[in-house]
Amino acid sequence: MKILLVDDSRAIAMVTTARLESFGHEVRHAIDGPTAIELFQKEHFDLVLMDIEMPGMNGFETTTRIRALEGHEPWAWTPIIFVTATDTDTNLVTAIEAGGDDFISKTVPESVLQAKMKAMSRIARLRTRLALANGKLQEQANCDALTGLLNRRAMDLRVDTLWEIAEHQGKPFSLLMIDVDNFKKYNDHYGHPAGDECLRRVAECLQKEVDAVNADQTAPGAFVARYGGEEFSVIIPDAPHGVHAGIALGLIEAVAGMQIPHVQNAGYGVVTISVGTICMTPASGAVKLLFRRTDELLYRAKENGRNRVEFL
Ligand code: GH3
Ligand code: MG
Ligand code: MG
Ligand code: MG
Repeated sequence: MKILLVDDSRAIAMVTTARLESFGHEVRHAIDGPTAIELFQKEHFDLVLMDIEMPGMNGFETTTRIRALEGHEPWAWTPIIFVTATDTDTNLVTAIEAGGDDFISKTVPESVLQAKMKAMSRIARLRTRLALANGKLQEQANCDALTGLLNRRAMDLRVDTLWEIAEHQGKPFSLLMIDVDNFKKYNDHYGHPAGDECLRRVAECLQKEVDAVNADQTAPGAFVARYGGEEFSVIIPDAPHGVHAGIALGLIEAVAGMQIPHVQNAGYGVVTISVGTICMTPASGAVKLLFRRTDELLYRAKENGRNRVEFL
């Protein structure tokens, strides 16, 4: 385990560190409360061993502050054990109230300390497993199963935040709404499984193009999402005006360039997309308006013959 040892006595800290290291743990020492809080914010610890009596900020107060800094996820709870010379009942109650989990005496026998550390290691492993499992769940909740792109829910959440940031900074915000042309006919002609595969390929192509404009700094921070069905969206949170239409053209060319046969797509014979895109500053309207007006442009692109972009 990685242990944060908080003790105002260097001598005690040295002895305790040596004991813990002999059990195979990694120890970081904080000489007082403020230093402990600073270290806690910077690094991840599996356990905190907290002295109670310290000049200035005592162990209880330090613990209360550390708890206030922790996230709300169940695994964000780092076990804190108070280590003190005076293990009276009052101290125990105060310790638990302050957010401590256990209490050991400074004179605890080696075997007891080792056993406690073993129990704490089990908790640390459990926390790691929980955090990993949650990470996977989060990923699944944010990703579209068919294409692996961000799903609508995740996109909406991101857009809300990015829109607010753009508003705050007075910067432009661009949205591209992308729709696969005559896709109902694609399904009807090639079958639904082939339709799924086609959507996967279109998604991959869009992602590749967006990665490229991220990498060459044309549109840093741009991302793709599956908006729903055969519709995708690209968000460019902070790009100069004019960039959005060029990116739309790039996407249109890239998708058509894959030359996925689509005999029912009149005039083209391959899978194509239509795009509506607008660049606007949040000051000139709400994000809902941006989506509605972009959708109108997409509709116009369809009316004007598909495989094209309409932009403002
Ligand atoms: P337009 O060019 O005007 O967009 O015509 P369209 O046929 O693409 O538009 P429409 O909205 O009529 O049809 C969309 C089709 O996309 C219908 C639906 O079955 C298909 N679709 C939506 N989601 C999926 C999917 O996940 N897999 C497959 N295979 N098809 C899908
Ligand atoms: Mg002390
Ligand atoms: Mg559609
Ligand atoms: Mg369509």
